[in-house]
Amino acid sequence: MPENVIIIGSGPAAWTAAIYAARANLNPLVFEGNPYDKKNQENGTLPLGQLALTTEVENFPTWPAGDTRQYLKTALKEDDQPYWVTANKEQPTHGINGPELVALARQQARNVGTRVESKDVVKVDLKNKPFTVTLHDGSTAQAHTLIIATGARANYLGLPSEDKYKNRGVSACAVCDGALPRFKNQPIVVVGGGDTAVEEAGYLTKFASNVHLLVRRDVLRASKIMAERAASNSKIGIKWHTEVEEVIGDDKKGVTAVRVKNNKTGEKEELPASGLFLAIGHTPNVGFLGDQLELNASGYIQWTTLARTYTSVEGVFAAGDVADDYYRQAVSAAGTGCMAALDAERYLGHHGLI
Ligand code: NAP
Repeated sequence: MPENVIIIGSGPAAWTAAIYAARANLNPLVFEGNPYDKKNQENGTLPLGQLALTTEVENFPTWPAGDTRQYLKTALKEDDQPYWVTANKEQPTHGINGPELVALARQQARNVGTRVESKDVVKVDLKNKPFTVTLHDGSTAQAHTLIIATGARANYLGLPSEDKYKNRGVSACAVCDGALPRFKNQPIVVVGGGDTAVEEAGYLTKFASNVHLLVRRDVLRASKIMAERAASNSKIGIKWHTEVEEVIGDDKKGVTAVRVKNNKTGEKEELPASGLFLAIGHTPNVGFLGDQLELNASGYIQWTTLARTYTSVEGVFAAGDVADDYYRQAVSAAGTGCMAALDAERYLGHHGLI
């Protein structure tokens, strides 16, 4: 028997869709991805999506500053508790951490009956109904509806020298790697001018001697409040109109410097640094779809009807960052996850499938 709904993803959109679908008695099945896959591990976003790479989440309603310890103790299993709860350390956040937020959403989805499998979907057949999804172990599953909530992953510059020093000083995740000994009291270079770059630069000042923030224009894309944080942090120096030419290092030490170029004057400079952190935007995770769904000009899944999660294939719905190159917030992803589950439920009812 085909499933009513298969949800593909592991972030706030996927878990919210699962909570709604489970509460509508659709008995949803979530493929949350394979956390043991090497590429997935490099991206660092499984099993909990991009929020797994963040620290404080101060803008998700329901999590004001406060003591979350007691709540986490009762809401998550012993094994899933954050280290600071188990180690009885001081709460390190203002509200809630990204990984805690998604772990709670996942638990909530399971509590209401969601089935979860830690497998990657590598292929889908959207041409025949019911839809078929193929998993990384070669097994398949079928469903009347699909909710795609696979999110997006961090971009890199694409320089050969950057590739050479990945995991030896080059990273796209300050939260994952910032505390490594190689960065302690050393200068670090961060690339990007958005909220992520500013957030990562700020986070890295906890470890680094100083942070050079390279911005390719003369203005930050980051929100005003984040831009002010960067400007007022004495350990962050912003270099405007500056781009990376080459990552310099050696086999023993990894990254030792970054050669940069001012794109207005052409002037070059070698910045001693033990690390290069990229925060230059994201690419949606749509590879497994082949060319079966309409994408927008930036490669994100196109919603085909205003304010609906419909895609170009009837019965396939998209939620979260995989269909959003504009808002990209945890709360907007959760909102569209809810919408996708309601859209799937109505589709199933309309076609007499439930
Ligand atoms: P983003 O807003 O798309 O910013 C990407 C930045 O990288 C831009 O400054 C862009 O420069 C720069 N860039 C892109 N390609 C580059 C290249 N090849 N070389 C040098 N620089 C390059 O991405 P984001 O910062 O990851 O933010 C994504 C979304 O998440 C946003 O909606 C943001 O508000 C949200 N977010 C929110 C928070 C928060 O509220 N605390 C934290 C993190 C992210 P240009 O400006 O010149 O294009």
